[in-house]
Amino acid sequence: MSAPTTTQIPGFRGDVIVPDHHDYDDARAVWNGTVDRRPRLIARCSGTADVAAAVRFARDRDLEIAVRGGGHNVAGTAVCDGGIVIDLSAMRAVSVDPVERTALVQGGALWGDVDHETQAHGLATTGGIVSHTGVGGVSLGGGIGWLMRKHGLTVDNLVQAEVVTAEGEIVGASASDHQDLFWALRGGGGNFGIVSSFRFALHPVGPTVMAGPVFWAAEDTTDVLRFYRAFVADAPDELGNVVRLGTIPPLPVVDEDLHFRPAIAVASCYAGPVEDGERALRALRQFGTPLVDLVGPTLYVDHQSGIDDTVPHGWHYYWKGTNLNRLSDEVIDIVAAHAYDASSPRSYAAMFHMGGALSRAPRDATAYSGRDVDHDMSIDAVWLPQQDDTVRASETAWARAFLDALQPHSAGVYVNFLDSDDDASRVREAYGDDTYRRLAEVKAKYDPENVLHNNKNIQPSTPAQ
Ligand SMILES: Cc1cc2nc3c(=O)[nH]c(=O)nc-3n(C[C@H](O)[C@H](O)[C@H](O)COP(=O)(O)OP(=O)(O)OC[C@H]3O[C@@H](n4cnc5c(N)ncnc54)[C@H](O)[C@@H]3O)c2cc1C
Repeated sequence: MSAPTTTQIPGFRGDVIVPDHHDYDDARAVWNGTVDRRPRLIARCSGTADVAAAVRFARDRDLEIAVRGGGHNVAGTAVCDGGIVIDLSAMRAVSVDPVERTALVQGGALWGDVDHETQAHGLATTGGIVSHTGVGGVSLGGGIGWLMRKHGLTVDNLVQAEVVTAEGEIVGASASDHQDLFWALRGGGGNFGIVSSFRFALHPVGPTVMAGPVFWAAEDTTDVLRFYRAFVADAPDELGNVVRLGTIPPLPVVDEDLHFRPAIAVASCYAGPVEDGERALRALRQFGTPLVDLVGPTLYVDHQSGIDDTVPHGWHYYWKGTNLNRLSDEVIDIVAAHAYDASSPRSYAAMFHMGGALSRAPRDATAYSGRDVDHDMSIDAVWLPQQDDTVRASETAWARAFLDALQPHSAGVYVNFLDSDDDASRVREAYGDDTYRRLAEVKAKYDPENVLHNNKNIQPSTPAQ
C-alpha cells in the first residue's frame, strides 16, 4: 500500500504524518522511551470530525488503530506498529464556564492545560499530579490526584463526554445520554470509543495552597511510615498525600549535597485555606529529623508541575502497580526492605493515599474499582536511554521483586499503572469479576469487533462472528 496523504483520508483536515515525514520520529515517540513502534500513518486530528473521519478510514482499510491522548501510558498503548495512530495531541483546548463551574476539555489536552485555564478562575478538578500527563488516559482509567479525597476522582467529576464510537459515529454520554457508555467510560479506559471532549465539574481551589514534600533519610523509613499511618488515619478530606520512596530528586529547590540521597518523602497538598493546611501539616513536619522540608504556601498550578522534571519524556520506564488495603507493620517492613534496592538513583515507588470523598461514592456508579483501598502504589523503575541492558535488567527485576513481596497484601491494581507485560489476568484483577463482566457487555454493544484494543483491553462478552 502506498503511503496515504491528507487527501486520502476523506473529510480529514488535520495533519497526516507518514514515515518519510520530517516529524515522523517525534510524532511516534511517547513518554516512555523504551517504546519504539512504527505506525503506517499518524492522523493528527484537528477536531471531532477528523477523529470520526480517521476511524472510518481505518475501518474501511482494516487498519490497526491506536489512540493517543497525552502519550503517557507506560505500556505505550498510544502507538502501534503498522497501523494508524489517531492522534489527539493537537486537540488541547480548554474552555471554562465559571458560572456553571465546569470546563470543556478537548480529548488531547494535558493536565497543565486544564490547571492553567481553571486556576485563572480559582477553580480546579481532580487530575494527575504531573502537568505533562494526558487528560484522556487519566480520566478514562479513574484519575487519582491531590484533590480526590476532597472532590472525588477525575471520573467522579466527569459530567459529559463527546465520543466517537468504533463505527465512527459521534455520540454524547452523560447521566441522561447513553448511560451505559457513560458508566463504562468512567474507569473502563479507552475501550468504548474515542473521547473528543470531556466536561468536568470544577471546585474552588487555591490559587494558593499549603503544599510540598518533607524528606527524611531512608534509614528512618519504618518510623516515618508508622507515624504517617496514624497521621493519615485522622486526616481531613482536604489533605492529599503521596509517599515517595527513592532518592531526593536533583531539583533546583533542593541543596546540591542532598541530590540523589536515599530518602522517604511525604508530599502533601491541602485543598482548603492555607492557615488550615498549616495546622493540618504541623505534626508531620515536626516528626523526627527531616532532611529538608519544602512545605509552604504554593500556587496550586506550581505544585501540579513541581515534579514534572523528575519524570521527563524519553527516559526509560517500567512500572509495577498494586493497591494496598492497610499499611500493616508487615507491609511497612516489606516497603522499607525493598524501596531502596534499585540500582538506578532515578527509580522510586509512590503511594497515593486514598479514602475521603472517593471512598464514599456508590460502588456501582462508575467502572472504577479501587474505592475501598487505603493506598494505590506504583513501583517505578527509571533509567536513562544511554544506559545498557544490564541496568534495564536490574531495574525491572527490582520492580518485580518489590511487587512479588507485596503480592500477599495486594488489594487489586489501578488499571492506569499496568505495564505492557501485565497480562489480561491483571486487567481482570483491576476491575474484579462483576465490573469486568459488566464492562464486557458494554464493550459488546459499542465495539463488538474489539477494534479499539490497543489499551488495557476488555474483551467483548459476545464477540462478533
Ligand atoms: C509521569 C506520569 C504521572 C502520572 N500521574 C498520574 C496521576 O497522578 N494520577 C493518575 O490517575 N494517573 C497518573 N499516571 C498514569 C496515567 O493515568 C496513565 O499513564 C494514562 O494512560 C495517561 O494518559 P495519556 O492520555 O497521557 O496516555 P496515552 O498513552 O495517550 O493514552 C493511554 C490510553 O488511553 C486511551 N486514551 C487516551 N486518550 C483517549 C481519548 N481521548 N479517548 C479515548 N481513549 C483515550 C487510549 O486507549 C490510549 O492507549 C501518570 C503517568 C505518568 C507517566
